[in-house]
Amino acid sequence: MDADLQHPPEVAAEMVEKALKEDLHIVIASRYVEGGGCEGTELGMKAKSYMEKGELVPDSIILGIIEEAINNEKDFILDGFPRNINQARALDEMLAKKGLDVNYVIFLDVPEEEIIKRIAYRRVCVKCGAVYNLIFNPPKTDGICDICGSKTHSKGGR
Ligand SMILES: [Zn+2]
Repeated sequence: MDADLQHPPEVAAEMVEKALKEDLHIVIASRYVEGGGCEGTELGMKAKSYMEKGELVPDSIILGIIEEAINNEKDFILDGFPRNINQARALDEMLAKKGLDVNYVIFLDVPEEEIIKRIAYRRVCVKCGAVYNLIFNPPKTDGICDICGSKTHSKGGR
């Protein structure tokens, strides 16, 4: 089974991913493209050079990164990819060459004010990357990371 998970930012997609996990290979696009998950690879370095210049990473590079991340698995979930119609078409072509297809698309529809609330109250530990939300998932001690004890939190972003 191949599924494509589309959701607004700041939604607890991890819950859905866990529910679907079982036998599936999960490719979280933002972790590969923005999070350095493919650092050291040729495409990853190219993507990084665009981001460092503050430019959008071309779809062809993103698609290549996704293809490497899928790694010839037959069953996988793409989280946050494709993000536009060109990426969707390119994905279809790439999968067709492998004899694969997207079987399901899961869209998490969340009211805009809820998304804004989640973004506004999001905190990320600068030291270890732990993610908190001051309303839904606050640290045990205000302003202190549960995991590493760091006091430095940023609003982060995704
Ligand atoms: Zn921490």
